[in-house]
Amino acid sequence: MTCIFCNIKEVILENNLAFAFYDKFPVNKGHLLIIPKRHVEEYFELTNEERTAIDVLLMEGKTLLDKTYEPDGYNIGINCGKAAGQTVFHVHVHLIPRYNGDMEDPRGGVRGVIPKKRIY
Ligand code: AMP
Ligand code: ZN
Repeated sequence: MTCIFCNIKEVILENNLAFAFYDKFPVNKGHLLIIPKRHVEEYFELTNEERTAIDVLLMEGKTLLDKTYEPDGYNIGINCGKAAGQTVFHVHVHLIPRYNGDMEDPRGGVRGVIPKKRIY
């Protein structure tokens, strides 16, 4: 099966083991995805070196988005497995810029993976 993330052309950031590119259906402007260059389905299969490379691009991505879009906050998320909502089975870290007022009450953030449990 062909993998869309193994064939990404519009790379924004790159190092020896990872790429970052803009999400095609962004949650907010600036939504970045960070992936290992190697085709690996799930986060927990990554090597320590790949996790480090992804983390470096996460930090560089934050610097870039701070400059470009000046967001007020971020959500960082990884969907690990179908039950957790993963739809593209090449591991990717979502770096989602957040803006004041982008939703009515943002309290709970990533707890919103189960919407009715978001606010505690
Ligand atoms: P997930 O549900 O965590 O597997 O996330 C998959 C993400 O990939 C979603 O946020 C999609 O908007 C994004 N996406 C799907 N196809 C493409 C594509 N061709 N280029 C960039 N992002 C994509
Ligand atoms: Zn792939």
